[in-house]
Amino acid sequence: FGVTAGVLAQSYVVGTNASFPPFEYVENGEITGFDIDLMKEIAALKGFEVEVRDISFDSLIPGLASGSLDIVAAGMTITADREKVVDFSDPYYSANQSVLVHQDSDNNLTVLYGNHDIGVQTGTTGDTWVRDNLVEPEVMTGELRNYDSYVFVIRDLANQNIAAAVLDKPVAETYSKNNPVKVVAEIITGEEYGIAVQKGNQELLTQINEGLAELKANGTIDKLIEKYFD
Ligand code: GLN
Repeated sequence: FGVTAGVLAQSYVVGTNASFPPFEYVENGEITGFDIDLMKEIAALKGFEVEVRDISFDSLIPGLASGSLDIVAAGMTITADREKVVDFSDPYYSANQSVLVHQDSDNNLTVLYGNHDIGVQTGTTGDTWVRDNLVEPEVMTGELRNYDSYVFVIRDLANQNIAAAVLDKPVAETYSKNNPVKVVAEIITGEEYGIAVQKGNQELLTQINEGLAELKANGTIDKLIEKYFD
């Protein structure tokens, strides 16, 4: 009598980089956003718990590989290079790159092809795009400036310490609402975001994909899009 068998739910550590609004950002000291809600909805459907950790974007994949993270939910684009080291869920969001400049600037896409400093977040597809298309072919003569957080990219752009930033368009647009910056060009890269797990963790990947499918089918994803993109 009086003894209750408690069943402890499995808890997973979810890594993100909370400088990527509206997918993940810090509000009133809490990590929130589309990806965070999405992970919580999947966890609720599948009966596990999540603990969210905010680390630099380029530490996320190493974190999965070393086992300090179980899941990465970070607006992370599914790429062939990343698929060598992690497994991705089915895609849940599509995005292109974009060029962001100061709101008072007359610059457009051509800002990339000259003597201007360009900011990117290290390890992102924006970083790779600039290296492959501007740095290596030596079409840009300014500096590629690497940052650990978009918060500092946007700050340097607002202060006009850099001339442009290359980052995912939905995030550039979100930053442009509350900062003196504007999107002047879209770079069609056709990226798709996936949730990543350790390579070979098929059991967790299946749970995530089943959760995603259910959230797509029952309208929850559409509700999250409405909540975070107006
Ligand atoms: N989608 C981009 C990538 O996967 C940027 C993600 C991010 O900065 N959080 O590299």
